[in-house]
Amino acid sequence: MGVARSDWTAVVTGAASGIGAACARRFVAEGGKVIGADIDEAGLAALEQELGSASFVGVRCDITVEADVAGAVERATATFGGLDVVVASAGIGFLSEVADHPLADWQRVLNVSLTGTFLTVKHGGQALRAAGRGGSIVVVASLNAVQPGRGVAAYCAAKAGVVALTEVAAMELGPYNVRVNAIAPGLVRTSMTTPAWQMPGIVDEFVENAPLGRYAEAHEIANVVYFLASDESSFVSGSLYGVDGGARTRRYPDM
Ligand code: NAD
Repeated sequence: MGVARSDWTAVVTGAASGIGAACARRFVAEGGKVIGADIDEAGLAALEQELGSASFVGVRCDITVEADVAGAVERATATFGGLDVVVASAGIGFLSEVADHPLADWQRVLNVSLTGTFLTVKHGGQALRAAGRGGSIVVVASLNAVQPGRGVAAYCAAKAGVVALTEVAAMELGPYNVRVNAIAPGLVRTSMTTPAWQMPGIVDEFVENAPLGRYAEAHEIANVVYFLASDESSFVSGSLYGVDGGARTRRYPDM
């Protein structure tokens, strides 16, 4: 990808918080320029203040709105002169058992976490293909793409879907030297998972089942995203990287 260039630019969705914000911080620390795309304008403004607008520019972008995503991708070239890396981190979940799941919430999760990721890969891939200098797309999937979790059916379906999307995009964009990979984090302490710390058993169950015996902090996920964004992973494409403390080895934790 373009991290080998001295000036490289990334678009990161979900950059206002959690894993997306950690990726933005890591990229800027490595000399990259970042367009942060999110619906949380206050969060983006705070990060722009922290990282400096010469390195990080926040753009209001709802990833379910195609024009927003196209606009955020265009801003990379307009503001920083190019595009090398795209990270699709924005996503949501919803807690409900399948037999009780409201259709509207099912559709909302699929719309943001699957279709929004599709739009991000679509427009990111289009721009990287057109620029003709290769690139890297990293999709933040989840351990739940490959390991079921009670009460998170819509999330599991969306994350399994983004892994399939990643593999197809890797096949199609490979000839343009654009690599596409996904990561599958286990439990990470972010805004998304804050409720888990109030629910009995959830955090303990993950920690007990993860061979490393703990949950992750967002910067540990960003480290792997940076590896996949950088030329250190120059022959890695179409892969799904587990970043879960080994939790995937316990495929059926209840057994
Ligand atoms: P987070 O809630 O801290 O960050 C998610 C960000 O996405 C927020 O800033 C939010 O405003 C943004 N967002 C939500 N809907 C959006 C939309 N329609 N358009 C643009 N932005 C939108 O959560 P996080 O933990 O950093 O999650 C990032 C990604 O990591 C998600 O895809 C999530 O599914 C995945 N993930 C998280 C964990 C975990 O344990 N935290 C584990 C595995 C995977």
